[in-house]
Amino acid sequence: MSPTEPAKLNVVPFVSVDHMMKIVLEIGVEEVLTGLTEYLEADFRRWEIFDKTPRIASHSAEGVIELMPTSDGEVYGFKYVNGHPVNMAQGLQTVTAFGVLAEVVSGYPVLFSEMTILTALRTAAMSALAAKYLAPENAKSMAIIGNGAQSEFQALAFKAVLGVDTLRLYDIDPAATEKCAANLADSGFNIVRCTSPEEAVEGAAIITTVTADKQYATILTDNMVGAGVHINAIGGDCPGKTELHKDILLRSDIFVEYPQQTRIEGEIQQLPDDHPVTELWQVIRGEAPGRTAEGQITLFDSVGFAIEDFSALRYLRDQLERTGHYVELDMIADPDDPRDLYGMVLRAASGGAASGGAASGGD
Ligand code: NAD
Repeated sequence: MSPTEPAKLNVVPFVSVDHMMKIVLEIGVEEVLTGLTEYLEADFRRWEIFDKTPRIASHSAEGVIELMPTSDGEVYGFKYVNGHPVNMAQGLQTVTAFGVLAEVVSGYPVLFSEMTILTALRTAAMSALAAKYLAPENAKSMAIIGNGAQSEFQALAFKAVLGVDTLRLYDIDPAATEKCAANLADSGFNIVRCTSPEEAVEGAAIITTVTADKQYATILTDNMVGAGVHINAIGGDCPGKTELHKDILLRSDIFVEYPQQTRIEGEIQQLPDDHPVTELWQVIRGEAPGRTAEGQITLFDSVGFAIEDFSALRYLRDQLERTGHYVELDMIADPDDPRDLYGMVLRAASGGAASGGAASGGD
């Protein structure tokens, strides 16, 4: 059955982690990243039609659990995501996620998916999209500080979308740098393993910070950031969790996804609430300037916004028919008479068919 076919709304296409890996490998990771960038750009261009709210966060000493909802009026989506820097030491992911799309007209879900891998892909694609508008022209060299789960995706998105060919890698844990370099060994990069963040940023036109630490960290100090660079700041995405020294912010033109959320979670939580920032959708639509001068420092203060997950799920849904990697979940009760939900339960107890639901699929 087609995953978008309306006749069987009681069964929901489900994309597992295994399916997601197969989809990414079958399409090709760089093609996925390019495709996601196009979906993100299309959705940022129709910014005003989306429901927008800062994500709903539940904080604890160890981390945060968040819900990220939005709708374009036809389709509703949300992501469940956590951020737990303490997890890595116990062999667990810092960030895990899953998400849902539903049709607004009935409220029925139409897609249920793993989003741990999809978040890494969409975050990288979003970074590349921002850099497409903000990075210096012909930027070929990028420093990546923090070589954990997100890092290879970031590298590959910048290669696919901007043609970055040189990576300068640094992590406080050299094993992470080795892992990142080994994973990217056959991807066509010139890879430089660095032993300090200062060495990593040397000569880099783009600096990506993608570390995980639940504190006000200073991954970059002011003297490390030269004129004309683009900073792609990914890891400061929670209250009390930042990566850049405040003085860098004061020298930069700052670009954000959704200011109401970024002021709570981004690097700019270090600044007064009226410090000027530019919304990326306005740059993408040509309604606000991006990079305008050679020595300008541009900063994408990324925190991750619900519309990006919506775009990613929309992209994924459009790949299901092509790849066939999903199963159908019997998620929605479907009594023959919509008012006879209890009768359906009784019939199941007596061995009758409970619903028209199925658990089958493309894989
Ligand atoms: P991870 O735990 O897999 O990797 C983080 C890496 O940072 C580790 O290798 C760690 O050794 C390194 N690190 C920590 N402190 C460092 C320092 N001072 N200098 C250099 N390296 C340091 O985490 P991840 O999944 O790669 O996520 C990285 C960050 O990105 C997290 O903070 C996460 O919350 C954030 N994130 C943001 C978005 C977004 O949309 N902005 C999306 C996903 C993840």
